[in-house]
Amino acid sequence: MSQLQEELVVLRERLALHDSDRQATTTQLQNQVEHLKEKLISQAQEVSRLRSELGGTDAEKHRDRLMVENEQLRQELRRCEVELQELRAQPVVPCEGCEHSQESSQLRDKLSQLQLEVAENKGMLSELNLEVQQKTDRLAEVELRLKDCLAEKAQEEERLSRRLRDSHETIASLRAQSPPVKYVIKTVEVESSKTKQALSESQTRNQHLQEQVAMQRQVLKEMEQQLQNSHQLTVQLRAQIAMYEAELERAHGQMLEEMQSLEEDKNRAIEEAFARAQVEMKAVHENLAGVRTNLLTLQPALRTLTNDYNGLKRQVRGFPLLLQEALRSVKAEIGQAIEEVNSNNQELLRKYRRELQLRKKCHNELVRLKGNIRVIARVRPVTKEDGEGPEATNAVTFDPDDDSIIHLLHKGKPVSFELDKVFSPWASQQDVFQEVQALITSCIDGFNVCIFAYGQTGAGKTYTMEGTPENPGINQRALQLLFSEVQEKASDWQYNITVSAAEIYNEVLRDLLGKEPQEKLEIRLCPDGSGQLYVPGLTEFQVQSVDDINKVFEFGYNNRTTEFTNLNEHSSRSHALLIVTVRGVDCSTGLRTTGKLNLVDLAGSERVGKSGAEGNRLREAQHINRSLSALGDVIAALRSRQGHVPFRNSKLTYLLQDSLSGDSKTLMVVQVSPVEKNTSETLYSLKFAERVRSVELGPGSRRTELGSWSSQEHLEWEPACQTPQPTARAHSAPGSGTSSRPGSIRRKLQPSA
Ligand code: ADP
Ligand code: MG
Repeated sequence: MSQLQEELVVLRERLALHDSDRQATTTQLQNQVEHLKEKLISQAQEVSRLRSELGGTDAEKHRDRLMVENEQLRQELRRCEVELQELRAQPVVPCEGCEHSQESSQLRDKLSQLQLEVAENKGMLSELNLEVQQKTDRLAEVELRLKDCLAEKAQEEERLSRRLRDSHETIASLRAQSPPVKYVIKTVEVESSKTKQALSESQTRNQHLQEQVAMQRQVLKEMEQQLQNSHQLTVQLRAQIAMYEAELERAHGQMLEEMQSLEEDKNRAIEEAFARAQVEMKAVHENLAGVRTNLLTLQPALRTLTNDYNGLKRQVRGFPLLLQEALRSVKAEIGQAIEEVNSNNQELLRKYRRELQLRKKCHNELVRLKGNIRVIARVRPVTKEDGEGPEATNAVTFDPDDDSIIHLLHKGKPVSFELDKVFSPWASQQDVFQEVQALITSCIDGFNVCIFAYGQTGAGKTYTMEGTPENPGINQRALQLLFSEVQEKASDWQYNITVSAAEIYNEVLRDLLGKEPQEKLEIRLCPDGSGQLYVPGLTEFQVQSVDDINKVFEFGYNNRTTEFTNLNEHSSRSHALLIVTVRGVDCSTGLRTTGKLNLVDLAGSERVGKSGAEGNRLREAQHINRSLSALGDVIAALRSRQGHVPFRNSKLTYLLQDSLSGDSKTLMVVQVSPVEKNTSETLYSLKFAERVRSVELGPGSRRTELGSWSSQEHLEWEPACQTPQPTARAHSAPGSGTSSRPGSIRRKLQPSA
């Protein structure tokens, strides 16, 4: 028991010791916590102090100062710019090469450079500001971390105090349990005698108490353990606090260092910027002073320039008057010149008209000298169609010294003829055309011209008049010449060229270009009383080029391609006429001229009546012979200047009346076949040609000649036609000796049924 009591006492002592120990530790911990709190507060104060210090550093003051200076500089600059603008606004006087302008432009450049530098400085300043801002942000961050640490510490503290409180409570509860034990012991002491049996009870109780003690011990152990733990915790906390403190210290040091370096950087940058700005400012000031002095020197120059400008302005004001005067005098001069030119022109026009009349007179004289009616012969070459043997031998020769002589060997006897000109078989189409060119040109001057191709069938009439597409004859060349002549005169004259094509077959006149080729056309007197003849319904096409002519022929061909079946035969028995009318107006005088060019491919001149033709063929021959002798009569009458010209004896002469009489010119091309078998017809043709030509001037003799010729030649056949001979001559057979030529109007026509 006593042992137990001793033990209890010991336990109590130990408990008290523990208590005191714990209290000591607790107070120690509380002290430590207090100390830490104080430290924290002091650090926070330090931080806020630092922060307040940071708010007003030298660097910031520097910056403010610089900003103020910058503002001042800016204002100065603005002032300068305003001044410059004012200067610019003043009337700009060109002063090229002036040294001031160069200087001012340099100054302007410098100014803009300085402005750029100022802008750069501004940028740097803002960079520095940004840096300070960043540092401040970092400081705030560190502070936050510190705050976090403090909060953690406070939490730890609270936890510790809570545990302390728990320990106190446990100890108090343990103290409260001690009295029942005392009571039991007392009871044991008082009632030891009585309750021996209760000893066991006590013993059990003791047991129980011992158990409780053991439990208490356990609890104590636990508490000790807890205490140990709390010790460890405290140690840990201390270490942590130390660590925090170290960290805080380090952060603080770092911060101070950073702040210091930042401040240094800032100060340095500001100093640099300031120095630069001062230097620049100085330069700007100097430039400004230079600009001001320049301006001062420029002002007098500007004044003189303004004066000059005003003087020039005054001069310019006088210009219109001067100009008007000059214009007036020039106008007068021009007017005078125009008048002079006009009178000159009048004079020239007068002379030109006189010359024109003179030319016509000369031409007339020339033609008169050459004869209004000319006869030429053209001998065609021997062709394949002439065959071979003695019949195809050449019977025609020429005089080498005289191109108007032709010799024919007829039945062994040489016969010679003299004409206006003789073309040998070697003469080209161009050579022949050369001979007729003058006649065609006279058509433009208002003369009427007739060109006839006369001769037996196959002698080359169509070749001479129409030619071949590769080697065209008089027709196409004449039109080509007319076109080119008209073109040449186009500046003074306006010409209109029209074309008609007609055919006379069996004394019936037909329009080759009309829509009704079978229609018979009549020759009528013009109702205007001029005595002129015209053919109502005869188609007239206006042409401007050879192409137009070809188109006109094509049109005629297309119109009549189905009309006739034997084209060659028909064409050799009809007269084909191409009538070209040239109407001109003189642009300056209004004078009008009309010339007619009649290109006639006559029907074959072979004497059919003598070779005994019958029926249609005989009728054709009679018509042909009658018309040809009528033509001979008319030409003879004209050439001998007879009072009466028998135009009305045939359709051909009646139609050509206008073109054969008066100032008109006629050319007869007598076509000759050179071969032996055709000598009779050749002789006949050449006789006809020579007679036409040899009609002498003087009315009496002429009439006699004409009479003898008419009765001897073309009229000769008439009795014979009443007793026709049945023979047909091979050489004159229609189509034998002719080749089909496209574009030939006559060849497109064949006898109607
Ligand atoms: P016509 O019209 O008088 O009946 P053509 O003109 O039809 O005769 O001529 C008959 C033939 O002779 C044609 O084949 C033609 O080409 C040819 N001929 C005519 N004259 C010449 C000439 N000067 N040169 C070459 N061939 C010609
Ligand atoms: Mg012919």
